[in-house]
Amino acid sequence: MSEPYDIAVIGGGIMGCGAALRVAQGGMRPILLDMGDLGQGASGVNAGTLSLQIKRVSLIPYALRGHRMWEQMGDAVGFHKTGGFTVAFTPREAELLLERQTLKAAAGAPIEFISVEALRKAEPNLSQKVQAASFCAEDGYANASLTGQYYRARLGAAGIPYRERCAVTQITRSAHGFTLQTEGGIVSATRVLLAAGGWLRPLARMLGVDLPVAARINTVSVTERMPTIMSHVIGHATGLLTMKQKTNGTVLIGGGWQGRGTPQTGRGEVTAESLSPNLALAQFAVPALKDARVLRSWTGFEANTPDFYPLAGALAGVPDAFVLGCVRGGYTIGPYISELMGDFILGRDPELPLFDPGRDFEKALT
Ligand SMILES: Cc1cc2nc3c(=O)[nH]c(=O)nc-3n(C[C@H](O)[C@H](O)[C@H](O)COP(=O)(O)OP(=O)(O)OC[C@H]3O[C@@H](n4cnc5c(N)ncnc54)[C@H](O)[C@@H]3O)c2cc1C
Repeated sequence: MSEPYDIAVIGGGIMGCGAALRVAQGGMRPILLDMGDLGQGASGVNAGTLSLQIKRVSLIPYALRGHRMWEQMGDAVGFHKTGGFTVAFTPREAELLLERQTLKAAAGAPIEFISVEALRKAEPNLSQKVQAASFCAEDGYANASLTGQYYRARLGAAGIPYRERCAVTQITRSAHGFTLQTEGGIVSATRVLLAAGGWLRPLARMLGVDLPVAARINTVSVTERMPTIMSHVIGHATGLLTMKQKTNGTVLIGGGWQGRGTPQTGRGEVTAESLSPNLALAQFAVPALKDARVLRSWTGFEANTPDFYPLAGALAGVPDAFVLGCVRGGYTIGPYISELMGDFILGRDPELPLFDPGRDFEKALT
């Protein structure tokens, strides 16, 4: 029997790929397994928004470092730093904007409030109904559909074996650590990292742990090519809209509107009840969008915990097992938090604190 790997990383999204790269840099011999293709999950189908303005306040330090990493990845991931505006249409939304962005600025995000006149100059196609706006020069986007090919190249260059279409169906503890039954045969490893996104719960159950993970079914839409109608990332004070126009003229519209389905059944379903208000809000913000045809809408599964903070650390009660996932804005933060996770597995002190997967969620909510 061949030597067990130092760690089996289960899940080839941003979290799993980033952590595998980090532990390999630190001298470990990892193997990465995905039930589909690398980046086929949330990491490859998300809206690609890299906006500090839509991050939770306490995740801002992680997002700032994530932004820097995306910038370094550059063209290989379709990175564009456009700057971003977040807009409010009513006094209540303006209050919300002030309250939220002030806290984020205090946490280190370079967010400023700008006048409606300055906004109109920068984005003349935005609705005349905007009452207040904030701006962050660091905001931008990358192309999520490049995630798989990007990490495939990096894992290959680092000499890290990865197996695609190789679902892990059972995990048992053994003398040397863990024995994984997979669709491609048995894999043995001293440690395991569960990085299976919306599929974390069934995976952790294989080790007898019930993680409180639920999946959200986010919807994203893309329009046909349009003449230039916006040049920054545009968001709404409630967080229910993000938009950007790609260099090819298409406009990507998201905002966390919910479709239907479960990760277990594979694909989610776009519903008219959530698509219509999402597109209506987009059109309200940029009226020129009324001339655009939506070419495609799709869903992806985003994992969530009851307190909406990540799971990143040791899996309680199972020595040498680790978990990483459920990061709000996980596309932005993923490259950075996966390095922190790798450091933790290597026995190093992470630069910023991780998020104990064994915490008391009831207590965290009170
Ligand atoms: C539609 C949508 C839009 C989003 N928009 C944004 C955005 O604009 N900006 C932002 O910052 N964040 C966004 N997010 C969040 C972000 O995409 C996620 O937080 C992040 O990609 C999660 O990465 P992950 O590696 O944890 O999970 P995933 O990318 O889902 O990876 C998990 C992997 O595990 C594999 N897997 C599962 N079970 C098994 C098994 N048993 N055996 C082997 N492999 C398994 C899956 O095939 C999958 O590839 C969005 C999410 C969605 C769904």
